[in-house]
Amino acid sequence: IPPVSIRYLRSILEPKDAPPDQGYEVAFAGRSNAGKSSAINTLANIGRLARVSKTPGRTQMINFFTIDDERRLVDLPGYGYAKVPGEIHRRWEAALERYLRYRESLRGVFLLMDIRHPFTEMDEIMIEWCAHRGIALHVALTKSDKLSRGAAKNTWLLAKTRLASYGAPDFSVQLFSSLKKTGTEEAWEVLGKWLAL
Ligand code: GDP
Repeated sequence: IPPVSIRYLRSILEPKDAPPDQGYEVAFAGRSNAGKSSAINTLANIGRLARVSKTPGRTQMINFFTIDDERRLVDLPGYGYAKVPGEIHRRWEAALERYLRYRESLRGVFLLMDIRHPFTEMDEIMIEWCAHRGIALHVALTKSDKLSRGAAKNTWLLAKTRLASYGAPDFSVQLFSSLKKTGTEEAWEVLGKWLAL
């Protein structure tokens, strides 16, 4: 993978404000606190890119980053924390679903799951959406430094089996730690393939 530089582009609430739907896009998804912002920062290798702000206004936005005119990374709103009022929550879920359903340039979903709490209900829904729509999916089991090597590998094997049960050919899973900076090469191999880098 050639070195790339990643710039923050914009945050949107409405799909109409998204950058033109062309080229290659990879979406990062995951439950709030799964380590998504940290992972994006680690993969982009420039500090605080995804902005770790947790205010309700920000959490429902879709954040776009550009690599070049043809390639983008997308930070989807983190799900799972029902701390926001119902109305905001519904808008955010609808925006997420709309994005996944209609975005033509979407080449793959990079799903972050805390290795200690994998496969939450919303994770399963996200995985089913990908399987149903034929979108490639790569799962990163984050914070793998929190488990022993053996326990982490065991969780990885279980996750692999569980993902295989969806019967989708382009589903994969890896261990990842932003703290230890492990798994970044494996992650970029997948991102590079999806983004045709
Ligand atoms: P987000 O809500 O999914 O964007 O999650 P954040 O990236 O903000 O991370 C949530 C919490 O997990 C923060 O306290 C991070 O410091 C911590 N965290 C994130 N990645 C790692 C990791 O690889 N290892 C460890 N030990 N903690 C992490």
